[in-house]
Amino acid sequence: MKPYISNIQRFSVDDGPGIRTTVFLKGCNLRCLWCHNPECIDPGITLQLIRQSCTLCGKCASKCQHGVHSFKMETGTHRMDRASCVACGECVYYCPASALSLIGKKWEPADLVAVLLKDWRYFGEDGGVTISGGEPMLYPDYVAAVASLLKDEDNDVCIDTAGCVPFESFEKVMPYVDHFLYDVKIWTESKHIEATGVSNKLILENLRKLCEAGASVIIRTPVIMEWNGGLAEFDEISRFLSNLHDSGHGVDLIQLLPYHAYGVGKYDNIGKVNQIKDHTPPTDELMEQALQKYLEKGLPARIK
Ligand code: SF4
Ligand code: SF4
Repeated sequence: MKPYISNIQRFSVDDGPGIRTTVFLKGCNLRCLWCHNPECIDPGITLQLIRQSCTLCGKCASKCQHGVHSFKMETGTHRMDRASCVACGECVYYCPASALSLIGKKWEPADLVAVLLKDWRYFGEDGGVTISGGEPMLYPDYVAAVASLLKDEDNDVCIDTAGCVPFESFEKVMPYVDHFLYDVKIWTESKHIEATGVSNKLILENLRKLCEAGASVIIRTPVIMEWNGGLAEFDEISRFLSNLHDSGHGVDLIQLLPYHAYGVGKYDNIGKVNQIKDHTPPTDELMEQALQKYLEKGLPARIK
């Protein structure tokens, strides 16, 4: 299945080793409450409205054949019945303020790779391409096709995944992937279900299998006070990773990522509700204490 792609981001420095170009695939099987890429949750095309740019001129309503746009002039509110949108793009084309856009485009693997490789001069020794999302591992055949073309040109390939897919999907892409950026978000299963919508059992099992298969894995744990801000969480995660190391199948790096609220503004633009508006960023002290849990077990961990 060919996924929709929401964005191609150049000069990424937080998506794996070195300078990278990151491609974001739409569609995700988790529902993390703190998601920074909510435009990548739905697999289809997403209609986006930047409310600050909208002048309430009404052009979109006059062009839309499906009655999606309406206005409440007393309050200056632009309403949208998104369920009726068929993503024809008419309103986007005619909006004089460029307030509307459609997020999501399908690319043939070869066409996508041709665009990604325009940046190869900037990749240097360590950089390359990261395939992210959403959950790219929902599309293992497509990812394998893109990654194999990138490897044909001797590029470094990362997959950014939450790991909640059948292991057979990993087996399809592994021959073409240099590193997996692998999320271990929360240890306690009940909290994991509450915060992401899924159990972490399959995720941890896949991580163990990936390490045993000799894959290069970089663990990423977002530090979110309300969900894993207790040090007991880091005790457990670091113990699990330490056991992997002791069995000779360790991970390459562990990154602790302090929560930030950069993605919050995106929710309203795409008609989603951000359920946790008031997140508290973790303190420097907590980040250091969490890091110590890994370092004291001899694990290769760092903040960010
Ligand atoms: S056409 Fe653009 S500026 Fe005019 S009401 Fe629609 S979104 Fe707003
Ligand atoms: S994309 Fe097409 S169907 Fe959707 S709101 Fe715009 S004009 Fe209407």
